[in-house]
Amino acid sequence: MSSPKRKVTQSLAIDGGTAVRSKLLPYGRQNITDDDIRAVVDCLKSDWLTTGPKVGEFEKAFSKQVGARDSVAVANGTAALHAMMFAVGVRPGDEVVVPALTFAASANSVLYLGGKPVFADCESSTLLIDPADVAKKVTAKTKAILAVDFAGQPCDYAALRSLASDRKIALLADGCHALGGRSERGNVGALADLTAFSFHPVKHITTAEGGMVSGFDDKLLKRARLFRNHGITTEFRERHERGQTAYEMTELGFNYRLSDVQCALGMSQLSRIEANVDRRNALAREYGQKLRRLPGLSPLSVRAGVHHAYHLYIVRLDDQWTVSRDEVVRALRAEGIGANVHYAPVFHHPYYERLGYQKGICPQAERAALSVITLPLFPEMTSSDVDDVVAALEKIGAAYHR
Ligand SMILES: *Cc1c(COP(=O)(O)O)cnc(C)c1O
Repeated sequence: MSSPKRKVTQSLAIDGGTAVRSKLLPYGRQNITDDDIRAVVDCLKSDWLTTGPKVGEFEKAFSKQVGARDSVAVANGTAALHAMMFAVGVRPGDEVVVPALTFAASANSVLYLGGKPVFADCESSTLLIDPADVAKKVTAKTKAILAVDFAGQPCDYAALRSLASDRKIALLADGCHALGGRSERGNVGALADLTAFSFHPVKHITTAEGGMVSGFDDKLLKRARLFRNHGITTEFRERHERGQTAYEMTELGFNYRLSDVQCALGMSQLSRIEANVDRRNALAREYGQKLRRLPGLSPLSVRAGVHHAYHLYIVRLDDQWTVSRDEVVRALRAEGIGANVHYAPVFHHPYYERLGYQKGICPQAERAALSVITLPLFPEMTSSDVDDVVAALEKIGAAYHR
């Protein structure tokens, strides 16, 4: 039976009606300027395509931006996480507490070294790792806590730091969502012992593929640096400049280097990070105002005192929808809105199920995972794009929300 409300609804695109947009609005998109292109071309014409001077220049500029002592450029964000776990010495039998709601790579990086990810639940209003649950999950085997600044919002580092200090374990951060974010305690990149970043095209800055480890502790950073170059103590250019040929491999590392071509692009991109995050905040404010009048959904809460980096704009559906979240996402896509979902709990993936993880261990995260939708958000989006998203949600809500 159709409600009176239903009668006035426009026909949904998924039912054959006219879509709000004819061309899909993606949920994220890189921003490449002529300056970026020039920087890459200049590097291609130089002597060094990899292991050259651009790597150190990018690392230095990045450290300055985030307020870290030093940074190590690596091949991607996953390599950054892997290098970080290696740096703090995760070994078989060690546990690392990681949040349930994150990209699988956050937890995979622990498995790479034979460690065991132990999943902590999230706070329901922010979906950030819940320090109270972290405290319950820390054991004598815990080597580190990995905080994830979900969607771009810095976690409660005051609480996490005091936990890590009390238990004498490392505090690590997956800042892949949060470049440009900060809290009263400082910038993301300077809040944990080490922080991992990703430069995948959907992230704040891109090098196509790329990543960075930032921090303060020289010993940890040195280990990360060793790890990205096979565990060899000198780099090719150092030996070249010293006329030296012999080298020593002291650890089992990987080739996780980032090329000079990519670092040149990264430096050029980095110069726009503040404007990029400001634009993301402006769009998030616009979403907040325009979505307020729609029933059935609410944005995630923002903690007091944080500057959100807004990698993602996430809304939660209430329990008054007549269809599942996945159907709402399908309907949005049909309307030309590239909605997405971040994330299913990591331990719901078949691989983790095979490792023996059971459902039900992080109830808040597991419940939230069924109701979250990521709406498009990237710096070049316009107000009229936001209006399209809101119009599509309104149309779909009229049909599917009680
Ligand atoms: C993007 C991302 C990663 C992995 O980064 P890649 O560069 O794709 O390897 C890890 N963790 C989180 C939370 C991410 O969003």
